[in-house]
Amino acid sequence: MSLLHFGCFVLHMLDIFFFHSVVSHDPSKRFGATLGALSGGRVSITRMALVNLKLALIVSIRFSATRRQFGPKDTEEIPVLEYQLQQWRLIPYLSAAYALEHFSKSIFMNFVEFQIGQAMRDKSDRQAELGREIHAIGCSSKPLGSWIAQRGIQECREACGGHGYLAMNRLGDLRNDNDPNCTYEGDNNVLLQQTSNYLLSLFHAKHYGGVQIESPLHSVDFLNDFHKILGSKFIATAMEECMDSAVSVGAYKWLVCFLLVESHRRLEQQRAIGMDDFDARNNSQVYYCRSLAIAYIEHYCLQRFHELSTDPETPAGLRPVLSKLCALYGLWSLSSHMATLYQGNYFSGKKPAELVQMGILTLCSQLKDDAVSLVDVFAPSDFILNSPIGRADGQLYKNLWSTVMQGSKVLERPSWWKEFCSNKAVVGSLRPKL
Ligand SMILES: Cc1cc2nc3c(=O)[nH]c(=O)nc-3n(C[C@H](O)[C@H](O)[C@H](O)COP(=O)(O)OP(=O)(O)OC[C@H]3O[C@@H](n4cnc5c(N)ncnc54)[C@H](O)[C@@H]3O)c2cc1C
Repeated sequence: MSLLHFGCFVLHMLDIFFFHSVVSHDPSKRFGATLGALSGGRVSITRMALVNLKLALIVSIRFSATRRQFGPKDTEEIPVLEYQLQQWRLIPYLSAAYALEHFSKSIFMNFVEFQIGQAMRDKSDRQAELGREIHAIGCSSKPLGSWIAQRGIQECREACGGHGYLAMNRLGDLRNDNDPNCTYEGDNNVLLQQTSNYLLSLFHAKHYGGVQIESPLHSVDFLNDFHKILGSKFIATAMEECMDSAVSVGAYKWLVCFLLVESHRRLEQQRAIGMDDFDARNNSQVYYCRSLAIAYIEHYCLQRFHELSTDPETPAGLRPVLSKLCALYGLWSLSSHMATLYQGNYFSGKKPAELVQMGILTLCSQLKDDAVSLVDVFAPSDFILNSPIGRADGQLYKNLWSTVMQGSKVLERPSWWKEFCSNKAVVGSLRPKL
């Protein structure tokens, strides 16, 4: 650990132990406040990862709109973004970037609200509860954001083919820059356990103590209706219905309730066969608690995006495109949970999976013509982007050539040229003379 980091760490710990102990003498409230105070880094990393993803998307989508390969006729080549495969690889990540843009900004504002409460010495139950909820959100939003960015940047790199591999286009650097976001401030897999512990403790309190589940940010309030939600089924019968993100939001509510009950059951089973709490928890992560934490944060991110895209305060001209992005993000995220949706009978038969898949492809195709404008919205200047294939003017080859020509010493001979060409050893002169 560097001295600077160590200094920050000590100050941070002093802040937590002294400042927060002034806030409350009630250990449970102090615990909530302390957890909340630890969330700043994770909430910020969610956004740092998003910045990397956005830069990669700008490069790959602008490139895909200008790079032409093959075509229906020998005489005509089409932009690679016209291929369904290319759309399906990139546009869902674009929808995720928009979902995370709103989500990371809004949870940061929630964190600021929490910090103001701390500064004002707020000792209320709500403040402690807010600390716990923000902790659960930060511990899963960092994995959500950093993993989507990691996978998305790699997809962008490959989607640009050999040009994506070329160092000057920066996709390799972006991927490397994002990599530690999956590890620092807590390894993603370990952090997710904090979120599932929070959810399981709420469920436990409701199941055994009849306590109403209600949180300051309302991310968990729907769990009160878990019996009713678990009785529901996938309702869409036509692809057009899946264009409404409410369908994915409903499916996610079911998914979180299902995984919560299953994780609780799994833990109880492990304890029943004689495991202590430590082993029972460790052996309930894979397929249960880990999936639960991921489903919870994906649902919450989608829920907030859904609210934004349907909010009358959102400019009417923006709502149609935001609704499509939101519907795509919902269906695409949901498609990674198909096995669980069938396992718990929320989906049955061929139709639901087909509807989700056709919905994703239709939305990708509908958003394709807006894709360049949608990355232009969050693109920095060409100077900051610093990627020849991602420049705003779309002059792909001209920009590549001019960057190559402006490279250091590109028009000079290498230092070893003379030795290599003029003073070459005569062929055979190195043969042993014994
Ligand atoms: C670039 C970078 C900068 C950093 N900067 C700082 C800094 O400024 N200050 C600072 O204090 N720290 C810093 N760190 C350290 C960072 O916070 C830790 O690396 C991180 O929290 C993970 O801890 P660890 O390395 O001890 O991993 P370990 O705990 O050793 O984990 C190794 C592996 O074991 C798994 N594992 C561990 N526990 C469990 C479990 N209970 N269940 C299942 N699997 C488990 C993990 O998932 C992981 O895959 C930095 C790290 C990096 C990479």
